[in-house]
Amino acid sequence: MDAGLHLSQRLIRLALRWLALALLGLAAPAAAHTGRPEAGLKPACHAYADTARQAAAVRSGPTGWICSDDQWFAGSRHTLLRFDLGPAGQVPARLETRLSRFEALTIAIERGDGQVSLHQLSTHDFVPYGHMGMAIDLPDSGAPARRITLDFVGATSTPLINNVRLYRQPGPPVTTEQVVLAALCGILLVPLFFNLALFRVLRDRFLLWHIAVVGFLLTHTFISSGLVPLAANVPVGTISMLIALTFCGGAASAIMMASDFIEPDMLAPQHRRALRIAALWVVANIAFFLATMDWLQAYGVNAYYLNWLPVIAIFSWPLWNAYRNGSRAVRFLIASWLPLLVTSLWQIAESMLGNQAEPLSLFIAQRAAIGLEVLIGSIAIADRFIQLRRDHAQSQVLASEMTRLAECDPLTGLLNRRAIESRFAALRKDGFATMALIDLDHFKQVNDRHGHTVGDRVLLAVAAALPEERDILSVRMGGEEFMLLLRGRLAVQRAEHVRRSLTARVARDVDGLDQPLTASMGVVEIPAEVMPDASFAAIYARADGLLYQAKRAGRNRMVQERMTAFARPAAGQGRAASA
Ligand code: GH3
Ligand code: MG
Ligand code: MG
Repeated sequence: MDAGLHLSQRLIRLALRWLALALLGLAAPAAAHTGRPEAGLKPACHAYADTARQAAAVRSGPTGWICSDDQWFAGSRHTLLRFDLGPAGQVPARLETRLSRFEALTIAIERGDGQVSLHQLSTHDFVPYGHMGMAIDLPDSGAPARRITLDFVGATSTPLINNVRLYRQPGPPVTTEQVVLAALCGILLVPLFFNLALFRVLRDRFLLWHIAVVGFLLTHTFISSGLVPLAANVPVGTISMLIALTFCGGAASAIMMASDFIEPDMLAPQHRRALRIAALWVVANIAFFLATMDWLQAYGVNAYYLNWLPVIAIFSWPLWNAYRNGSRAVRFLIASWLPLLVTSLWQIAESMLGNQAEPLSLFIAQRAAIGLEVLIGSIAIADRFIQLRRDHAQSQVLASEMTRLAECDPLTGLLNRRAIESRFAALRKDGFATMALIDLDHFKQVNDRHGHTVGDRVLLAVAAALPEERDILSVRMGGEEFMLLLRGRLAVQRAEHVRRSLTARVARDVDGLDQPLTASMGVVEIPAEVMPDASFAAIYARADGLLYQAKRAGRNRMVQERMTAFARPAAGQGRAASA
């Protein structure tokens, strides 16, 4: 078997085993009690300020506070969050929020006597925690305090500020969602193996793009799951950048895959270009967003989200056209992207409508959508593979039919010269050592006297008389000339028997001929051991020479020769036998 195919099968087997393991992983959360009993403390009020002085004034005063769970946005330089702990309060142990970037965080802990202690922190002090989250251990945990005020400077997203919760106990090191996400990562590895295996066989570029899609989305899922800190110490800022980068990488690769995967005749060149532009736009968007994050901060993530709308418009148009053209590939692509498109639009809408809490259910829906994208994408590729195999099988049938037609004489159905010439060396090796060349005598007269239709019937009668056996091959060389290739004992006698039988067969099959039809024959016997390399042309020329001798000697006879060396024998050397 082909080595590449063998390896592919091993890879697919490995992928299936891995899938079984990953599914076991999905079942694990049901068994593990990783749920958290403690509900976190929400901020009682929040406020915004443009300068540090303003922020300090708001913090220590009663004015400027919004004490309801609305009017959240990330445009201000300072965002203040106030947690009222009550007269007998204690500093909680931990602060958790949604993973995002900011410049600085000042924690003000106010004791009962009005004394305030300030603690300066940055993104780097946080560790990623849970799904899309980050956490920090609070200073002075357990100490008496009546109020804690947080001042986030340069927050880049609303979820960062309106998801802040304080906990008396740190949560479990791994949450239920994380276990589910780890299992999802495991499942995403399956199409990765699957595509690598297929690439060894198909060598198509869209497979490389799909491998990139799966690679990016797998990394995205892994990073956003908060599982990274279990393996490596990566700063929170880097993680939040990687989350955006991997998502965009996945989207750009998916669009590039579409441009290569949609059938060439279903996608106009300008539409293919539009797809590539959409992919470029995604890359440009994320590059621009990451490079200008600091001064775009006032717009939060909205600028980045808004930029997705033209991308969606640019790539929807070619897809719609391919769909209308009847592309099979694009139906799979639309099915694979639809869930992700819906959740992305949902996310954009949440962000645009100011309800920027980005509920966790949205994240979970988005992970599920990623899983579906990869899964349906892989099914699309498998479908393409099956289709190619079917096309291949069909073209093989067609090719063998063509070969059969090319090697068959259309009038008599006998093999033609091409068929025998191309296989001659192999036939010689198989023991076909005798060549008999038969030419009908005065055949032109048959045509002249009885017409071509009768001539054709004579040819058909002759063809019917030529044997079809394991040890005799019959060929129509052209016109009224036939060839027998024989092997085994008494080959010359058997050929001569055939030649003589022609007259009776033609007389039986064709009425009204005024003369019996006869044939002349030249026979060469060249044992393979005498001349292993003798060519078809050389032996044919020799048989033709003997046939000519038979004609000259009066027709209706055989002239034969057994070759012992491939020297040109002198004329008349052969032995003639007449009827
Ligand atoms: P000889 O004994 O010397 O072989 O004489 P001949 O008439 O058989 O040879 P010649 O080569 O002069 O004529 C062969 C004729 O075979 C000429 C051609 O019209 C006829 N012929 C060739 N192919 C076909 C065919 O497919 N059908 C019919 N009806 N005639 C054919
Ligand atoms: Mg003839
Ligand atoms: Mg002839």
